[in-house]
Amino acid sequence: MSALPIRSDLRSLKPYGAPQLDVPVQLNVNENPFAPSEPTVRKISEAVAKAVAGLNRYPDRDAIVLRDALVNYLSKREGIVVDLAQVWPANGSNEVMLQLMQTFGGPGKRALGFSPTYSMYPDYCRDTFTNYVTVARNEDFSVSAQLALKAIEDTSPDIVLFASPNNPTGTALDLSIVEQVCSRFEGMVIVDEAYAEFRRSGTPSALTLLERFERLVVTRTMSKAFAFAGGRVGYLVASPAVVDAVQLVRLPYHLSALTQAAATAALEQADDLLAGVELLRSQRDDLVEWLRGRGHQVAQSDANFVLFGKFADSDAVWQGLLDRGVLIRQTGPDGWLRVSIGTPSEMMSFRQALEEVVPG
Ligand SMILES: *Cc1c(COP(=O)(O)O)cnc(C)c1O
Repeated sequence: MSALPIRSDLRSLKPYGAPQLDVPVQLNVNENPFAPSEPTVRKISEAVAKAVAGLNRYPDRDAIVLRDALVNYLSKREGIVVDLAQVWPANGSNEVMLQLMQTFGGPGKRALGFSPTYSMYPDYCRDTFTNYVTVARNEDFSVSAQLALKAIEDTSPDIVLFASPNNPTGTALDLSIVEQVCSRFEGMVIVDEAYAEFRRSGTPSALTLLERFERLVVTRTMSKAFAFAGGRVGYLVASPAVVDAVQLVRLPYHLSALTQAAATAALEQADDLLAGVELLRSQRDDLVEWLRGRGHQVAQSDANFVLFGKFADSDAVWQGLLDRGVLIRQTGPDGWLRVSIGTPSEMMSFRQALEEVVPG
């Protein structure tokens, strides 16, 4: 059989594939380990059942009810008042980001990221024929205003991509940096806040800067803190002009009626779904301290995962943990590994396994 005539730039590539292995302790893709409560399951199921009764019709293309629920959520939880015209949801923030790159990137355009950072950014760029360049973060994985501004000067991007807190390092961005970049840079600035709800107190969100900068976009997701990864809903918050622009590329009826109904019901149960976040934050801080106590290097984390190292053979450490039923993630700079924060008993299993694999 001859090979399919696949696009030449895709031919040698492998698809995204964090292993989905059936092991007892899964700490590899930064999910919230707490499943929805019985009452929340019931409320979401009822909302979905209602939507099922109307599945002969296409869903609301503009997802008005869901956007309204997101507006309420932002106002209640974050104290941020935005208009429905400033919020746009899609199937995960992955799709939001792809839509942004389709709208503002494209052939001849360049996006700048700060490495190590989210492994999907190069993929969104490749898929939209956007040139992706990276500049290395500081030794402690932070990004200073000076570093960011120099990177912009050196690479002349059209889009600057910041993840804050950053994946895989957990590092949050000082807001003054976003502010300085937005003030001096002519292009689009995207701040990916997938892990915002986990940030330590006192770490502000870029949402607070939106009213000042028309070219700033903040993306969020229901996949992480919100315990809704399986529902596939992410969203952006920006100026109405950005939301209008994205309409040009979004597929018609991109968000199914089932997704819209489930996500709207989930947002009504926000207090319940987010109930575990405090515990996860404190367990994260405990884990950072414990790892440092064992002599590991640990990146400061504002997220629900911790990047730690440095191992001469991190693959062997990863495999050793897996052999003991604990799946973590091989990602980030050489010699480092990333572990998501799970339930207290999962974290106990992780610690015990690590003590066996890497004796103190
Ligand atoms: C997990 C993650 C996302 C979001 O994924 P979705 O499930 O598509 O919303 C976005 N950005 C970063 C940095 C992430 O780690």
